[in-house]
Amino acid sequence: MSDTDALVEFLADRHVSCPNCGYDLHGLRNARCPECDLQLALRVNLVDPRLGAWIVAVVGLSCGVGFEVLLLAYFGWMKLVSGFAPSAVAMVPLVVGFMVQGSALLALLRGRGWFRRRAGWARAAVASACWVITLASALVFFGLVG
Ligand SMILES: [Zn+2]
Repeated sequence: MSDTDALVEFLADRHVSCPNCGYDLHGLRNARCPECDLQLALRVNLVDPRLGAWIVAVVGLSCGVGFEVLLLAYFGWMKLVSGFAPSAVAMVPLVVGFMVQGSALLALLRGRGWFRRRAGWARAAVASACWVITLASALVFFGLVG
């Protein structure tokens, strides 16, 4: 049985809405929505995708990376406009923080499946570590600048 046959058979006796446009797909004959013409597929999904801690971790690292990118862009702009250059002492934690948090964020985004398969305590520990890294990075920056 092809994937299209399985989809057609599944929808033969079910009223399921198109995930894009909401059209009732009951009695569909092929794998395209007749209303919006998008390709459809029958899939197996997890009931609980276990993404809560992953989202908390991604948001934590994204806050840190965003903070560093904004400050680096601001310092770059100030250098262009007024010639003002912050001290290297202030720049080092920003650049190091950006590299560490940026790498961790990319690993987290690519490793969603790996993250999902960890035990609950491990997912919570990674999510907490992401926020600790972000807060520590900000504290180091403000400690050195302020
Ligand atoms: Zn549709």
